[in-house]
This record gives sequence, structure tokens and C-alpha cells, in this order.
Amino acid sequence: MRNLAVKDVVLSDNNTTDHLYQFIVTFENGSKARAFVVKNPEWKLTGVSRLLQLPCPICMKDYYCKCFEHHSDVIESQLLENGRLDQCLAEGNKA
Ligand SMILES: [Zn+2]
Repeated sequence: MRNLAVKDVVLSDNNTTDHLYQFIVTFENGSKARAFVVKNPEWKLTGVSRLLQLPCPICMKDYYCKCFEHHSDVIESQLLENGRLDQCLAEGNKA
């Protein structure tokens, strides 16, 4: 899914008691999404919702759509590759 190439990830919020994390994901085309992730002990993407600053890169709608949810596996695999989320936490990148 070329339109969903992850460019940057920053931590938005976390609740370490419940192992819940929220990240703001920026894609190559400038689209952004909020990713809800659990770490217990492996990372797992539990939800993703597009932020509405830009039209959806898939269906081009500028209002709510479910494309990111439908392709959450593509997003998850990119977030998890190379320990990207652990690295994000270690670097303390916060939105
Ligand atoms: Zn869409």
C-alpha cells in the first residue's frame, strides 16, 4: 500500500499502568493518524484513526472514512518493523 508509507512516529500519550500508548503517525504524503497501541509485552495496534487535516490518501475524501482501519495491518507492520515504537519511546519524541 504505497499511499500508506509511514514517515514519522511520535508519542502522543501513554498510560503505562494499562500498557496503552497513543502515537501520531505521519505518512509520506503528509496525512496523519492517531494510532492506539498496546504493549503487553509485544506491541499490538488496536486502533487507528485518520486526523482530518488532509484528504484521505486512499479514497481522497476529506471527511471521515474507514480506509486506515481497513489497512491497519499495513500500518501495524510498519510501526512494528525494526523496533520502531521502542525506538520512539527511547528517544522520547513526544507530540
Ligand atoms: Zn479514505
